[in-house]
Amino acid sequence: MQQIRRDLYCDVAVIGGGVGGCAAAIAAARRGLHVTLFEKGVTLGGLATNGYVPQVAGNIEGICLEFCRKLDEAGQLLQRGDVDYYRNPSFEPEWGKLILESMVVSSGARIMYDAACVDVEMADENTIRRCVFHTKQGKIAVTARIFIDATGDGDVAEMSGVPYEVGGADFAGLSMSTTQGSRWAGLNVPKYMEAEKAYRQKQLDEGVKIPVSLCWDLEEKRIAEGKLVRHVSNKYTGFFRVMIPNTPEDNAEFVTFAFHSYYCQNTDAENISRQILEQHTLMKQFMLFLRECVPGFENIRLIGTGALPGVRDSRRVFGEYMLKAADVCCGTKFDDGIARFPEVLDCHHPTSGTLMFQRHFHMKEPQGSAVTIQHGCPAEMHPFGEPEGMEVRPNPRDYCEIPYRSLLPRKVDNLLTVGRCCSSEFHANGAMRIIGPAMGTGHAAGVAADMALKRGVRPRDLDGKEVRKVLIEEENVPLDEPCSGHWAMLRNAPGEIHVAPVGDYAAIEGVSMF
Ligand SMILES: Cc1cc2nc3c(=O)[nH]c(=O)nc-3n(C[C@H](O)[C@H](O)[C@H](O)COP(=O)(O)OP(=O)(O)OC[C@H]3O[C@@H](n4cnc5c(N)ncnc54)[C@H](O)[C@@H]3O)c2cc1C
Repeated sequence: MQQIRRDLYCDVAVIGGGVGGCAAAIAAARRGLHVTLFEKGVTLGGLATNGYVPQVAGNIEGICLEFCRKLDEAGQLLQRGDVDYYRNPSFEPEWGKLILESMVVSSGARIMYDAACVDVEMADENTIRRCVFHTKQGKIAVTARIFIDATGDGDVAEMSGVPYEVGGADFAGLSMSTTQGSRWAGLNVPKYMEAEKAYRQKQLDEGVKIPVSLCWDLEEKRIAEGKLVRHVSNKYTGFFRVMIPNTPEDNAEFVTFAFHSYYCQNTDAENISRQILEQHTLMKQFMLFLRECVPGFENIRLIGTGALPGVRDSRRVFGEYMLKAADVCCGTKFDDGIARFPEVLDCHHPTSGTLMFQRHFHMKEPQGSAVTIQHGCPAEMHPFGEPEGMEVRPNPRDYCEIPYRSLLPRKVDNLLTVGRCCSSEFHANGAMRIIGPAMGTGHAAGVAADMALKRGVRPRDLDGKEVRKVLIEEENVPLDEPCSGHWAMLRNAPGEIHVAPVGDYAAIEGVSMF
């Protein structure tokens, strides 16, 4: 057994430098704690940057808002019109890495790159003494008063014996589809849009009620020729892409996370490798297809594949409170709400490449602001058994809150979790995992670590209502006000909320959801 080559000491050790970990380190260091952030890679941002998912969904506030503003000031944020500033802005992932790094360094936290946490030494069964990292120097260790697991996959929680869950109960333990992001150059956007528009018009002129996208139909032909294994485009809206700022319209760069794998088991090493191999195969097939067949894509080049597996969900620890799908759909508010989520239920279907999403949940007695409909799912939606109750969706005019208790893992007293591994049911993880809430939980954990250490208590002994109060009063997170920006616009929009039938993306207009 290799000896520990170096021992580090700090108040708070944050393990994982994704958006959740960065927010936690920044918040704790700004409040005067001695903080070290450990990251197994050599840049920050996790999936949001290194996974090529540079698109901030959710309510943007607190440190997340600061991050977006800095990107904006640097001219690296792509807004979708004035009112849409708070709705899914995309950003240049390379700048995202550098801006997060500056924010962490300026906060006073130390960064240790190229340090993968591989072991945990317990002081007793409820207390972590040290986390051990594999580095170029050999094994190093950090002793801290509080540890924050920001690994996305709950690695530290797992190694310290915290119970956890993987996958959906209604999907026999399978996880959401996974998707390695990829970055492309050379797209002629106007040419592609024109071709899609003309194709749609042609179908309408021929009396087709719901026209399908050109890209979808071209894929269909290519599949029939045996040159593509399956569709990746949206049947109605075409090829999914998130634009990179500051690249010309007729020679644009974009990222896409359209190359999915299904039946994923995200704590199984070989299963993860299978997914990546499959996604690389899709990328190669689609590079040829898009160049040869789709107008506007003739000159595209693949210029980057994500440096992380495109895992949406893996371990979700059991915490003091497990956020429920019902909470997300019904807009539950908590006295100790420390972050929030006004989005669609962002669950990517674990098994169906045709449906792609399951953006609803089934409940017998929905309450609160849930949007409910009765119209029965296709069999493919629930391959392991029909759920009881009607379809429910979160109301886009409302939001749910994430309670402080979801950050408190059972069993281990000096550990907090942030980001996508927090305590949530499978479908509720669609709320916890996206960038806005991931940074919100990180922000809250950094604040809570400070409060616990100053009071000499365990994080679980804090009253979550007080953490919320500090976030509102000292950290400028307006949790006591309704969501702003895009969400305020939806809240105030006149008319009914329209739910398109499952799989029917064409019927979207006004305040609509699917
Ligand atoms: C394909 C895809 C598309 C998505 N699309 C969107 C979107 O459009 N909008 C949106 O808001 N969200 C989206 N998400 C979700 C979102 O990107 C992530 O859930 C979010 O960024 C998670 O942040 P995190 O900090 O919790 O975890 P991660 O981003 O996973 O960060 C974890 C970090 O910890 C490091 N790490 C892991 N293990 C260790 C270890 N043992 N030791 C040291 N370091 C470690 C990793 O290298 C990484 O940097 C998407 C996710 C995927 C996969």
